[in-house]
Formats: sequence, C-alpha cells, structure tokens
Amino acid sequence: MRFTLTGNGAARGMALGRARLEQPSRYLIDERPLAAAEVESELERLTRALVLARAELAALREKLTGVFAHEVGEFIDAHSLILADRELNAGLADLIKVGRYRASAALKMQRDRLVAVFEAMDDPYLRSRKEDIDHVIGRVQAALVRESSVEERKLAARVGEILVGDTVAPSELVPLAEHGVLGVVLTSGSPLSHSAILARSLRLPMIVAAHDALAHIQDDDLILIDGERGEVTVHPTAQDIARYRAWQRDVVQRGKRLALLRDVETRTRDGTTIQLYANAELPADIAQARASGAAGVGLYRTEFLFLQRKEIPSEEEQFLAYRDLVLGMGGLPVTIRTLDLGADKADATGIVLDDEDNPALGVRGVRLSLRRPQLLILQLRAILRASNYGPVRILVPMVSTIEEMAGVRYLLDQAARDLRAAGHEIAEHIELGAMIEVPAAAIALPGMIRKLDFIAIGTNDLVQYTLAVDRNNDHLANLYDPLHPAVLRLLAFTIATARRAGRHVTLCGEMAGDVRYTCLLLALGLTEFSMHPGLLLDGWEQGNACDRGRLLAESKTLLRAVTREGILHALKRLEACAEKPADGAAAPA
Ligand code: PEP
Ligand code: MG
Repeated sequence: MRFTLTGNGAARGMALGRARLEQPSRYLIDERPLAAAEVESELERLTRALVLARAELAALREKLTGVFAHEVGEFIDAHSLILADRELNAGLADLIKVGRYRASAALKMQRDRLVAVFEAMDDPYLRSRKEDIDHVIGRVQAALVRESSVEERKLAARVGEILVGDTVAPSELVPLAEHGVLGVVLTSGSPLSHSAILARSLRLPMIVAAHDALAHIQDDDLILIDGERGEVTVHPTAQDIARYRAWQRDVVQRGKRLALLRDVETRTRDGTTIQLYANAELPADIAQARASGAAGVGLYRTEFLFLQRKEIPSEEEQFLAYRDLVLGMGGLPVTIRTLDLGADKADATGIVLDDEDNPALGVRGVRLSLRRPQLLILQLRAILRASNYGPVRILVPMVSTIEEMAGVRYLLDQAARDLRAAGHEIAEHIELGAMIEVPAAAIALPGMIRKLDFIAIGTNDLVQYTLAVDRNNDHLANLYDPLHPAVLRLLAFTIATARRAGRHVTLCGEMAGDVRYTCLLLALGLTEFSMHPGLLLDGWEQGNACDRGRLLAESKTLLRAVTREGILHALKRLEACAEKPADGAAAPA
C-alpha cells in the first residue's frame, strides 16, 4: 500500500530504488507467541528466508572481481559459514518448535545469545566478530520481511539502492555513491550538515529528519525519494513513477538552458553586475561550475581531500589536486580554503581531537591549523605551487581574532620565501582572506578589515554561532533562522564594513544559493554569491529579475523589523522588486 513520509530535503533530485535499511537490529520483531497450528508454516517461512539469504550471499560472491574478490570474498565466506552452522539452525528451529517464538523473534534471540558469547571474549578481534553475526542475522531478517509484490520486485531489481538510516558520516558517503547507492534517507540530521553538503556535490538526493523512516520502511521496499520536497513515497504508484520520469526529462532541459547561459553575465534589471561563484568539493563540481558559467570558485573545501583516508595527503598530492582545480577553471579565480576539519568533519587521519565535549566550539578550522603548523605549511606550500597555474586566493576558516590571521600570514610568507629559494615559480602576490563565520569576527571586523585582502561570509556557521543553535540538530531546526534580526544586522554590518574598506565580500553559506534570500542579500548590499554549481541557474534567474536600487532603498524597513511578522512583511516588499520572467524566457537566445 502506497504511503508517504516527510523529512527535510537536503540534496535536490529524485531517486527510485530499493530501500536498504542500515540498522538490521531495528527490524520489527513479532513477539506474539505462536499457536501450535502455526509452527509448521513458521518453520517454512524461516527456511525460505535462510535459503534466500544464502542465495544472496552466493550471488554477491560471484559478482566480486579484481581486488575485492579476495578481501571481501573472505567476509562473505565467513558469513556463509555462519549461515550454514548446524547449531545455529537447530537452535532457531527449537525456538520456533519448543519455545513457540515467531521466526523474527527466534532470530533475535539467537543473535542476542551469540553476541553475548562474542562480547565475553578477551580477544578484541574475536569480540569484533559479533558484527558478522549482526550482518548475517540482519540479512535473514531482511529476507523474512520481504513482502513486496512480484511486479514491484521486478522493477526494484533494475534499480539501485537507497540507504535508509539514522546518520551517515561525510567519509561514508563517497564509497556509498561509488557503490551505486542512489540516494539517502536519514531519520536525523540537517540540510546544513557536511554530509548534506557533500551529498549535493555527489548529486546524491538526500532527505534528513525523516523521523519515521526506519519504523515504516522495510528492507527492499521500493521507494521514490524527492530531495526537493523532502518526501519519501513508499510503494510508489504508476503516477508517482511518471512524475519521476518527468523530473528526469526536466533535468535534461535544465542542462540545455544552463548551457545557453554559460557566457552571459548576471546583471540586475538596473544594471549592477552580480558575480556568481561556485562552491566546490569534488572534481565533478569543477566540471559543473565551468559548464554553468560560474565566475570562478568562491569556496573550495579542502577537507574533503582528507576525509576518505588514514594518512595525511602529502604536499605533492595536495599540489596536484589544487593545480588540477586551478587548471580546470581555465583562468577564472579560485578561492582555496585551508583545512576546516573538526566539529562534524572528523577524518580518519587522526588530526582531529576526538575527546572534545563541544567540538563545534573546539579545535576546529584555523585553530587546528595553527596548532599543527607543519600541516598548515604543507597545505600552504601546495596552494602556493598551484598559484603558478592560475589566479588563486587563500581563505581561512573559523577565524575569531586578528592574531590568527597574522599567524597564517606569517607562515604563508615563510612558505613563499622557501619555495622561491628552492626555485619554484609561484604567484607574485596571493590574497589572504578570512571566513566571517564567528560573530566575534563580524563584530570586530572594522578593526581587522585593513589587514585582510578579502572576506567570505559563512552563514552556515554564522547563524549557528549567533543563535547558539547547532546546525546539525534537527530538533532545533525551527530556531536555526537566517532571518533572525540579529543575523540580518550582522550580515548588513559585515557587508557594509567590507565595502567601505574597498574589500571584496562573498557569501558562501547555503543561503547564497537559496533563491528565497537572493533579494534580501542584494538589499543588504551583497553582489558576490558563491553556491553549489547546481544552483547557479536559479541564482542567475533571480539575480537578473531584481531591481537593486529599489532593494537597497527597501533594506531599512528590513533592518528595522524586530518581529518575525515584520521581517516576513519586509521580505515580501523586497520580493516585489524582482520581476520574474515568463517561464522558459529566462535563457537568452
Ligand atoms: C559556512 O559556514 O557557511 C561555510 C561555507 O563553511 P562550512 O559549511 O564548510 O562550515
Ligand atoms: Mg563554516
């Protein structure tokens, strides 16, 4: 029976696929005792599920080739052995026959017993094998609850999987995407988390805070997810699937329109040029940024180079990555941000402290870089070497004092001297800017701005730190409000301070790519936006529709407003300064 669940859309796009539940322990366990007459049929159900689980493992084993065949093959063999274990099977049958447990409850009992045995072992390796038990029993549970119709399974067999779980770490997302996962549904999380930001780069539709997903979706259910609406449709109908097909056609159409805009400037109706830059994490973002005519890269998050691995990337490896980024942008400016590890961007390299009570307020961004100067020097050298291949600027995250910037500047000058002395060609001058994402930096900006070459406002963090609301906590989503008067005033103040000092100011938080805020940001004086490249077309259309002169004049009403109602009213007046083109007329011929 079709039903829908809602959450928050975190990465746009739709995906149709089989649900793969991440937590097999959450399978619904039927605790009702069996009647004598049901014992036989329950034993048959269990046997069918065991046969299916074994067949799945055998099929998986067959598919393995190359480097995976050996390593992963061993795991699968171990799982097959557990499944074939006589004692396990006899124990399950006894629980059903004698204990009158239903198959799912019997599986859970066996799982709990075996896990207890492994947990009592001294040997840490053997202790960790309890995970194998979880995987194996989870697979049988999944086979047991698979009740989808034959047609549905036929369709599902042709499409990939959609991960349904509680949380997913940024470092887990790339391998998931590489293994063909089509989308992600999470019961918690927020669209501002780094996992969500990365999902957008991976073009992996994602829904977060779908609280009921694990309780209502079963393994192998066919689901359709809509990352824009934040909607999961379980057992979609033909009509739903037609909507999905229409969306696929629309993607192609948008691609064509975008191609037309490549070389067309973004200019407000009254003639102000707006710069639309791209945020990038992955090579695919660079290709899309170029294809959609971005003015450059406004934010390159280097931490994603560090997330997939156990060792710190060498200077040479970082240099090659930055050089390819610069070359990929073909002479357009590229802003490379120094490492912003910490908080929810923990890595496997062991750089990040893992015993902090408050990681978001802890050793993150520049604080980490300055405690590990060798690491920062390595990165600065790699960026400086890349600066020989095209215009590069360096951006420093999580700045709260001018001394931090002085520390980075000192190491940057030293790295430049060393490189030149060793005969490297590097840019003559490289701009150094600060992310304004800690309220202290925004408030103290008048005293700092002359020492900075440019600034970039990181609203994702600025909002969280101004309002004391964790950007990743979906329970506080209603309080995470970019329209809070304190945020609006800080934004206006920061933009005005930079402009008065003749410094470029970009806004590179998620707000920049959200068309609901384009008029507002223009009204606050912003002209440089940096957003996910997939949003550039929307930004272009919205920017061109606005009358900036009128917006600037209206900004006073906005900044005077103190209540939510007053702000929404002011926003409406701002939106009236944007004249939407008729549908399809936005692209120039
Ligand atoms: C921000 O904080 O707005 C930002 C762009 O940086 P990140 O999302 O990587 O913290
Ligand atoms: Mg930030």
